[in-house]
Amino acid sequence: MTVPQLEVRDVTVRFAGLTALDEVSFTVTPGTTHALIGPNGAGKSTCFNVLSGLYRPASGTVRLGDTDLTRLAPHRIAALGVARTFQNIVTTEGTVADNLMLGRHVLSRAGFAASALHLPRAVREQREHLARAREIAELAGLAGHFDSPVALLSYGDRKRVELARALCLEPRVLLLDEPVAGMNAAERVRMAEVIQHVRTELGLSVVLVEHDMGLVMRLADEVTVLDFGRRIAHGTPDEVRRDPEVLRAYLGT
Ligand code: ADP
Ligand code: MG
Repeated sequence: MTVPQLEVRDVTVRFAGLTALDEVSFTVTPGTTHALIGPNGAGKSTCFNVLSGLYRPASGTVRLGDTDLTRLAPHRIAALGVARTFQNIVTTEGTVADNLMLGRHVLSRAGFAASALHLPRAVREQREHLARAREIAELAGLAGHFDSPVALLSYGDRKRVELARALCLEPRVLLLDEPVAGMNAAERVRMAEVIQHVRTELGLSVVLVEHDMGLVMRLADEVTVLDFGRRIAHGTPDEVRRDPEVLRAYLGT
């Protein structure tokens, strides 16, 4: 699988008088992890909403390789290989398998009508999707939980169900919005390992929004820093950590 470059160029988003993103640009090198950091309200989730097609920017472009994603509907963007997790959504319904199969349905060519009629091709496709969903669950650190009700899993495992569901779209770019929010130290380490493992095994690009600087330092190849909707710094984790503008934005000095 070849992963195209994701390029965000001069993206501006406005909400009634507020500029949530102000000509923000960054490029995600294929196969790397790019962190998007900044204080609360900096525009990180807004940026993800633009990347996944939920918000249309006032100006600027988002490209995946040669494809312009800027004004495509969310399901088109997902089908082109950009999948995301949400900041505050944790699944509680159904089994792990049910949740992952929901993710697979987007890819199903046979469609719902055929599978309702149990046509042979639909049955075969369903079996293949189930096998792949099981592989993805294992990749995402959910081995042994495939048939468990999500409500019975630990919080950390439920966050990994979200991750696995996004992976069921077979993305080339994975957008993770605060994947370790609400986790304790041990769960954070575990999640970091899983993200690293998934990225390496699947060879995809990751865009990571995260407050936990330890996690950013551990996982990110490059970091873009936003503050009040503007890009104030960009570089390796080490460069960004020492940047005076970044320290000012975080410490308010
Ligand atoms: P972050 O994820 O970095 O904390 P957000 O992208 O959620 O920041 O928000 C950036 C700014 O845009 C904030 O001031 C927020 O209140 C505002 N904002 C985000 N979404 C909306 C919306 N749908 N309508 C109005 N304002 C919004
Ligand atoms: Mg946010």
